[in-house]
Amino acid sequence: MRPLIAGNWKMHGLRADLKEIESIAATAAKLHPDVDILVCPPATLMAEAARIAGGRVAIGGQDCHTEASGHHTGDISAEMLKDVGASAVITGHSERRRDHGESNALVAAKASAARRAGLLAIVCVGETQSQRSEGDALSICGGQIVASVPTGMTEADLAIGYEPLWAIGSGRMPTSHEIIQMHAHIRKCLVLHLGPHGKSVRILYGGSVNPADASGILALPGVGGALVGGASLKAEDFLAILGSAPSVSSRRLDVA
Ligand code: PEP
Repeated sequence: MRPLIAGNWKMHGLRADLKEIESIAATAAKLHPDVDILVCPPATLMAEAARIAGGRVAIGGQDCHTEASGHHTGDISAEMLKDVGASAVITGHSERRRDHGESNALVAAKASAARRAGLLAIVCVGETQSQRSEGDALSICGGQIVASVPTGMTEADLAIGYEPLWAIGSGRMPTSHEIIQMHAHIRKCLVLHLGPHGKSVRILYGGSVNPADASGILALPGVGGALVGGASLKAEDFLAILGSAPSVSSRRLDVA
């Protein structure tokens, strides 16, 4: 299983910032042939980003509508993302769940739309600080997996982003034990939900991943990559994180 390092630019980036994608594409694939690399810029930059990346780095969307086309002003379909060169889309990011009231059912429908269009869906789950303090983190994330991941998905069309909400953009990080425990729990839920395919779906850790901490996180058992926000905006930081990914042969993806 190849690690996947995905950058989520969120609502950041003007055309001048495409130079960061150019820098990533210029060195990433050569230096890190063992790693799947994805950058998800805002929709306004996607077509140009895909052109610049030239297949050396994959380009993804940050959200999609459930339908292929229709009367949905301002929305973008998975097919439209595919059309401008995307190969993946994030669904159910906590900021979409929070800012747009997206339910698990809607996230599942978006993941199905991604599969329909031939995109990898990165379905995000994660607990709030109070849910963790109450001891509910595992059950919250397990419930989100069951309700946000359509049955029938496989490692070819699905990755999971585990993002503790309190770690996103905060500089705070769960302990190694908490990350290992959650990734093992998500794996168990995926296998129950998807059968054998659940064993091979990559589970990415997300939340304040930065060049200093990345190698420790990416080496943890069960961690199949990273979903990176702020540190993906600058090529130098993102490339340093990519450089931290362990080679495929040295990976342990599950807790024994
Ligand atoms: C994110 O929101 O997907 C994220 C991981 O952000 P950051 O790395 O900035 O915490």
